[in-house]
Amino acid sequence: MKSLELLTRRNIWKLKPYSSARDEYSGHEAHVFLDANENPYNQPYNRYPDPLQWQLKKFIAKIKQVDERQIFLGNGSDEAIDLCYRVFTEPKMDNVVAIEPTYGMYKVCADINDVEYRKVLLDDNFDISAQRILQRTDKHTKIVWICSPNNPTGNNLNAEEIEKVIQEFQGLVVIDEAYGEFSAQRSWRTRLKDFPNIIVLNTMSKAWGCAGLRMGMAFASEEIIGLFNKVKYPYNLNQLTQQKALEMMKDPFKVREWVNILLQERTRLIKAFSQLPCCMKVYPTDANFFLAVVTDANAIYSYLIEHGVVVRNRNNVQLCNNCLRITVGTKNENNELLGALRQLK
Ligand SMILES: *Cc1c(COP(=O)(O)O)cnc(C)c1O
Repeated sequence: MKSLELLTRRNIWKLKPYSSARDEYSGHEAHVFLDANENPYNQPYNRYPDPLQWQLKKFIAKIKQVDERQIFLGNGSDEAIDLCYRVFTEPKMDNVVAIEPTYGMYKVCADINDVEYRKVLLDDNFDISAQRILQRTDKHTKIVWICSPNNPTGNNLNAEEIEKVIQEFQGLVVIDEAYGEFSAQRSWRTRLKDFPNIIVLNTMSKAWGCAGLRMGMAFASEEIIGLFNKVKYPYNLNQLTQQKALEMMKDPFKVREWVNILLQERTRLIKAFSQLPCCMKVYPTDANFFLAVVTDANAIYSYLIEHGVVVRNRNNVQLCNNCLRITVGTKNENNELLGALRQLK
């Protein structure tokens, strides 16, 4: 790995971050707060939240088995994705390499930040080749984007190939594990000590059932997390989100139960879906959704909309001709989908 200084955008490396009122007093006991121009009324919403969310991070550190200083919390994983560009890439000069097809935000954030986005097509099994990824990198490549289990394909990518990329690439490798809880694969978060150049993304939006809260997590070396903290908005995670996330973290068993139910439902749904006349193929999945090739994705998508059922049409995505991406819902929701499709002529 190159030095972190070489991998960081120059102005960010030199940046002196905003110091909030709450940053400056911290470490002392206090009970009268006249430092932040807050209104003393309307407790508890009158106070600015903890900019570094320490209470919450202590819980997350236990659940995710990392050091609390190796955690960044953001307004969804999307904040962490954008921060990767704003912290490390020099607009108009640097580039990133990503698997294709994958989650759309990596490219949108590249475009917003005016950074070249290089796609490396997955193979016929939607798997990666380290060699092909590494071939696309050059001295201006700062980040390689990997998503496993991948969206929209649903599968885990080959861990040995991912490790090869991590070992040989001189820049940063982001591994998005938004669907990690649904998969048996070991999290890359557990390898932070071995690999100082990885950034692992997790989220509250999928298995944790909290997409509305907007909370994503990045796990990386303390140095990388320090750079994220320098650039993020001081109060990027609001008080209500911090409170509710803490409450969720105190009861992780519920999440395990949801995951078990959804995995059972996934098996049942895929079995029934595969027998539909409109289904050509269902790809293997390690997530709470599956990708299916159907006879006519556009027509079936519209037909389902007319029946009040929304799925994701991935027909225009590379390698996903006539593919629909279908999320596993409750038993009743899944039955509505199946019922509608059984009546399709
Ligand atoms: C859903 C999803 C996310 C979650 O994003 P949030 O901003 O945390 O809601 C991240 N990555 C991938 C690949 C996803 O599919």
